[in-house]
Amino acid sequence: MENSTLKTITTNILNEKDFLNLGKDFAKPLPQEISLESVKLFVSTMVPQMYSCMINHDFRSLLNSFSQEAVEALKFLSAHYVGNEPNLVEVNLVGLTPDQANKDFMELRIHLTVHAADSDGSPVILQQFWDVSGNHSFEGALSQCPNCGAPVEAGTIVCKYCHSDLRSESTATIFVSRVQSY
Ligand SMILES: [Zn+2]
Repeated sequence: MENSTLKTITTNILNEKDFLNLGKDFAKPLPQEISLESVKLFVSTMVPQMYSCMINHDFRSLLNSFSQEAVEALKFLSAHYVGNEPNLVEVNLVGLTPDQANKDFMELRIHLTVHAADSDGSPVILQQFWDVSGNHSFEGALSQCPNCGAPVEAGTIVCKYCHSDLRSESTATIFVSRVQSY
């Protein structure tokens, strides 16, 4: 079986310290699968994936990690991405917003600044808001990477060690419900 790997790019969360205070004013919590670590890994994997889908006009590989509505928003934006190579993402934690699909939880709104290079190597910056939601139907049990054997937590989308794409064996624990461009 051919082993597919997912590219990851450096992702920095600029206001990590704010994470604990975000939920203070809300009666409902963020689901526990949304952590600084899971958001960082998710963004570092999904941003390059998003660019490659734009270039190939094929968004099927995002459907495990983005809602249909978010994929439609990305299709609409695609012209701004083609030909650009992302190399760094800066994330700002913006706040919480109600989870439309599950009234017991909140979603995390993040703002992404993607630093990319166009085909001439000139810098291009793209900005998006993502609403990150817990995947409440999640029931994964993967404990080992099928490629390198490294331990992986349930819900991991990419092996930290060999970057194998684990999404077909382990449903992502978090996904993007909405995308807006700014
Ligand atoms: Zn691995």
